[in-house]
Parts: sequence; C-alpha cells; structure tokens
Amino acid sequence: MAEAKRIDGKAFAGGLRERIGKAVAVLKETHGFTPGLAVVLVGEDPASQVYVRSKGKQTVEAGMNSYEHKFDKDASEAEVLAMIEKLNNDDNVHGILVQLPLPKHIDETKVINSVSPDKDVDGFHVVNAGRLATGQAALTSCTPVGCVMLAKDVLGNLSGLEAVVVGRSNIVGKPVAQLLLAENCTVTIAHSRTKDLDEVCRRADILIAAVGRPQMVKGSWVKPGACVIDVGINRIDGENGKTRLVGDVDFDEAVNVAGSITPVPGGVGPMTIACLLRNTVQAACMINNVDVPEM
Ligand code: NAP
Repeated sequence: MAEAKRIDGKAFAGGLRERIGKAVAVLKETHGFTPGLAVVLVGEDPASQVYVRSKGKQTVEAGMNSYEHKFDKDASEAEVLAMIEKLNNDDNVHGILVQLPLPKHIDETKVINSVSPDKDVDGFHVVNAGRLATGQAALTSCTPVGCVMLAKDVLGNLSGLEAVVVGRSNIVGKPVAQLLLAENCTVTIAHSRTKDLDEVCRRADILIAAVGRPQMVKGSWVKPGACVIDVGINRIDGENGKTRLVGDVDFDEAVNVAGSITPVPGGVGPMTIACLLRNTVQAACMINNVDVPEM
C-alpha cells in the first residue's frame, strides 16, 4: 500500500494565520477595534515561557495587541484572581489565557472559571464546555479545533464517518469528540479502561490519539486508509544522547497503513496557537457585536 498523505499542519497553520491577519486588518479599518490577547503566566516553567513567547509573537504578527502579565512562582491565588478580574473589565482585552500548569498552591479550576466566558479563548471555562456540549456558539479549546480543521481539510465532509478518540481529557479528548459529533461523525471515546483498544481503533475512519504515551498506537491498530490525527507530544531518548519529539502514534508503522496522517512535530502542534488567535478574533467580534469574518 502507498504511504499515507502527510498532513502539513505547519503550512495549514501558516495559511490560517495569514487569513486571521487579513480579518484583523478589516476589523480595524471597518469597525475601529483591534483584538487583544492577554496571557497570564505564573512561575518560570521553561516550556511555558517558550509557549508564552510564541503566543505573544504570533499575536503581534497577526496585527493584534498582545499583553503579558508575569507573576513570580510564589504569587498567591488571590493576586492571580485579581489580575483576571482586572482583565475581565479591560475593554482592550478580548481574550484571556492563563498558561497552565499553575503552581500547586493555586486552584486551576477556580482560576479557569474566573475568566469571563466571553474572553475564555482557551475554551476551558465550564460555560464554554457546556455550550459546546449543547450545540450553542462557544469559544472552543484550540487544539481540538485544530484537529478537526485538519481532518476536514483532508476528508471534506465528515458526516457519517466513524471517529475514535483515544483520551478523554477536558482539554483535548472530550472537546474533540464533541466537535466530531457536531460534524455528524459516529464517535467513540476510548480511555485507559477501554477493552480491546486495538480493535476499537481499527473501526475508525478518523483516529485521534490524545493520550500522552509515546508511539502507543501501532500500525496494526489503524484501519487501512484512515485519517490519523496525532495530538501527542512526547520527548524520548534519540540518537547521540539527544532527545526527540514523537507522538502517541507509531508514525513509521502507521504511515504505511493510514490514508493520511499528521507528523509530530509539524502536525497538530502548530495549529494550537493559530486557533488561539482565531478564537481571540471571534471573541473580539462577539464582544463588539460584529459578525465573525471568514478565517
Ligand atoms: P491527559 O490529560 O493526561 O489525558 C490522557 C488521556 O489518555 C486520559 O483520558 C487517559 O485515560 C488516556 N490514556 C492514558 N493511558 C492510556 C492507555 N494506555 N490506553 C488508553 N488511554 C489511555 O492528556 P492530554 O492533556 O489530553 O494530552 C494528551 C497528549 O496530547 C499529550 O501528549 C499532550 O502533550 C498532547 N497535547 C498536545 C497539544 C498540542 O499539540 N498543542 C495540546 C494539548 C495536549 P483515563 O482518563 O482513563 O486516565
């Protein structure tokens, strides 16, 4: 069988950022507002610092305003909540993102739910999760939106397809399953207690792996011709004492069975920030009572 089409998330995300930039220019010109994204970072986690830097850079490149609020790792929960309250009331801020994980002494759920649902561009607030689950307009978690955009780009209409999502986290597994259901897929959500996981996966026309276990999904678990979307980002030992990134799917095996597949890196990963920018434009339009432009 021929090798699967490699889904180029980096190129797709680049195109999406360009369309977002154009939409932002129109909003400025026609409606006189500039979408603004505020990121709150607590502590010095190196990976979080890298993410926050790229978010800021890409926000500015898309013509939007970027605000960063950094706190020491010992900052109190009350200080962080006070900052979020201030941002909730700031008319220049349309999106608020609290970089996770937070230090252990801060209640993550409480902080997430203190963000105004209208500015919750991460889509983690319980109100947005509820809106998504009940088919109402919602700000939806960025990585799941990115997964479904890539699947639709390759497959077109997803209606009637069998989708299997491995993983049931609130930030990836559950929202991606809801989005696929909204696309009229028949959705199975698998997790650590699922029996005969390989057989369940083999039913999938669209297989989404969001597990956090390096190369767990083997080629023999993939239905020939399926679209495989690998959300996993795992660092493993590579050659010459260096580490390398791999997904939750054994790419080298699955690429010989699937019809299309996202690589890691360069697949789902780049979509997350692009979808965050898209959500910020969406939030800004909703706050300003303006139709959300095509992006
Ligand atoms: P998570 O919160 O740890 O959830 C993992 C899920 O996988 C859980 O539902 C768990 O089941 C399930 N699971 C664990 N071991 C399993 C097994 N052996 N068989 C079947 N299911 C199993 O992880 P997450 O936050 O959803 O993230 C998943 C992966 O995506 C990670 O590699 C993460 O780094 C990556 N990620 C990437 C992006 C991005 O590309 N930008 C964004 C977010 C996450 P139970 O519920 O039964 O425990």
